[in-house]
Amino acid sequence: MVSVFLGLFILWRNHKSKINQTFALFCLGVALWSFPYILWPFANTAGDALRDFRLSYIGACFIPVFYFHFVVRWLDIYEKKKTMVYLSHFWAIALSLAIPTKLFIAGMVPKFSMKFWAEPGIFFHLYLVMFFGYFFYSSYLLFRKFRQETGLKKQQIKFVLIGMILSFLGASTNYFLWYGINIPPYGDIFASSFVIFTAYAILRYRLMDMRVIVRTFLIYLADGMYAYVFYSFLIIVYPLLWGSVYSIYAVLAGLVVTPIFVVTLFGFDKQAKRILDKYFFYSLYDFRKTITKLSAELNNYPDLDKIINLIVDTIKDTMGLDRAGVLLIDKSGGIVRYKIAKVIGFDITNGISLVKDNFLTRYLKQTAKPLVREELALLARDTGNEKDSRNLLNLEHEMMHIEASLCLPLLSGKELLGIIVLGFKNTGDPYTKEDLNLLSTLSNQAGIAINNARLYAESKNFNKLLQKQVAEQTSELKARAEHLEKLLKMREEFLDIASHQLKTPVSVIRGTISMFKDGSMDKLPKEEQRKFLDNIYHKTEKLNVIIADILRASEIDSEDFKIDPKNSQKVKVENILQSVYDDLMELAAEKQVTLELNLPKKPVPMILTSADFLEQAFYNLVDNAIKYTDKGRVKIDLANVGDEVIVKVFDNGIGIPDADKNKIFEKFSRAANAVNMYADGSGLGLFIVKRIIEAHPGGSIGFESQLGKGTVFTVKLKTAKAGS
Ligand code: ADP
Repeated sequence: MVSVFLGLFILWRNHKSKINQTFALFCLGVALWSFPYILWPFANTAGDALRDFRLSYIGACFIPVFYFHFVVRWLDIYEKKKTMVYLSHFWAIALSLAIPTKLFIAGMVPKFSMKFWAEPGIFFHLYLVMFFGYFFYSSYLLFRKFRQETGLKKQQIKFVLIGMILSFLGASTNYFLWYGINIPPYGDIFASSFVIFTAYAILRYRLMDMRVIVRTFLIYLADGMYAYVFYSFLIIVYPLLWGSVYSIYAVLAGLVVTPIFVVTLFGFDKQAKRILDKYFFYSLYDFRKTITKLSAELNNYPDLDKIINLIVDTIKDTMGLDRAGVLLIDKSGGIVRYKIAKVIGFDITNGISLVKDNFLTRYLKQTAKPLVREELALLARDTGNEKDSRNLLNLEHEMMHIEASLCLPLLSGKELLGIIVLGFKNTGDPYTKEDLNLLSTLSNQAGIAINNARLYAESKNFNKLLQKQVAEQTSELKARAEHLEKLLKMREEFLDIASHQLKTPVSVIRGTISMFKDGSMDKLPKEEQRKFLDNIYHKTEKLNVIIADILRASEIDSEDFKIDPKNSQKVKVENILQSVYDDLMELAAEKQVTLELNLPKKPVPMILTSADFLEQAFYNLVDNAIKYTDKGRVKIDLANVGDEVIVKVFDNGIGIPDADKNKIFEKFSRAANAVNMYADGSGLGLFIVKRIIEAHPGGSIGFESQLGKGTVFTVKLKTAKAGS
């Protein structure tokens, strides 16, 4: 009955699968065999018994071959063993044809406690050879595969193998009597266990952890024992108290005793579970405890990194996995991706580093359940629908790609925040139902914790961003205000200088010319008149210089001013210095300053520059040196050191006061001693020099000065590189 039912059930689950078909055939064999077996003990005549025996052995002939057929299909080696399968069927048919003859059962005789038992014919011996032959061969195939496999399939094979060995050995008890050995037949009972074990193994994808089964069994056993002790106690005590169990007092006492029994049984059951878990199933116990603890801890951390670490480390360590990791959603750039938050044990180059929003993630989002890779292959195999099967295989492929054997969704509402990716258990055991339940609970909690952490981080970031923006804008405003202030100051300075330096010469010129106009000059001698004219001329020249300085300064007063090497020529510094020297000889002579120009014998390398600008810079330096020196000496030196051309302008003039040293390159800046000595300066000369020199790539200017002793300015410029 059991085997007929199971056979039909498995066929009903998926009638297209060859595995299910062969298993159903095998069930049919077992049923055929056992059915007449049940009738046989009731047979009164030797003829009836013989008929039942013969009927039974038709089924029996097919059991080993159907079983072999099923094993071959199940292990997916049918193509390789095809001939053997055909051969086995041929054997079974040949044998069953011999059953009605005396060649199989020679006759019926009383044996042991049985009224009738069969005497073996020659074909029966052959049947036994076939029976054990296929039994051992199938067992060998299963065992071989068992050693190769890991995970779920290994577990399934284990179940089938245990069932098979139990029942075949049990079934073989049926054969002893045939040969006159007095061992009674237990075949039926064992055969059923075989069928049940096998069916369980192929039906259930998620096999129960053996430890869980044993634990449950032990708890029932303990409860049963308690009930038994209680019962025995009553049997002894009742007659002592009330003479008989059936007395009226005894029955009334039952009203008190029964509730006591029920309550104590519950208590006992609870204690039994606790003790068992603590002493015998501590790993199971521990695991549960850890997960509960982890769930509680998760809520205490607002920090995402810590949460991820906690999840990955705890799962990996407590379940003893070879690898574990968490991927988190990343929506940057408008594309949804899942990126590693933390992984241990994965080869990152194999695809886990970046999971796109794909089949896998959609499936996890939809089902919100753990996804076990091994199960997918089995599901794909067993589903009748081709499209479903393809989808499942796709999913399996995705998981293989990222080396995952189990994926858990991290959900917040409908959004998939991330994926927990796990490898295999180090023991090679598959994930049990228990594992999956606990992991599901954990991933739910983790999803919530991660979402909280993200929201927390986002609000914190937002705050930071806000602070940063405010700070940025404040500093920008401050900078602008400072800039404006500077501009205003410059404007003031400019107006100051302009009014003073432009106005003074202009008013002198105007005054002198008006004297010529109103005829007051006519009274003066020609020579005096000449002096006035010279003075006017001199003032206009100064005006000219100041105006040129102002124009030049405004021209180069910008951050972008650069001597562009592309638009520059190669220039001989010697020529430029010579020209400056020639121009300023006269001024030096007027001021009784000796002007020297020292050029090295060997020409220095040329430099890339704009000759006009560079001449202006050196002119200003030498002009200053002469201006601020009274009856002294000004010397211009030129040298080449490495890839640099160095120009030094020495003087032994008034020097620069320490207080003004860091300002003299600024626009309109003049030291007090300079103003006293020479009133008409613009304070723009050095500003222009510095700008021009520093507009050369690698160009620099510096000075040393001692008040009252003299000053030396040093200019360094890079030589033009060969080929440029
Ligand atoms: P200006 O010469 O028109 O005053 P510059 O910008 O050329 O303006 O010079 C700025 C200031 O640097 C001068 O006013 C002066 O105080 C100081 N300075 C420049 N060169 C010399 C020098 N050779 N000796 C002493 N002081 C100098």
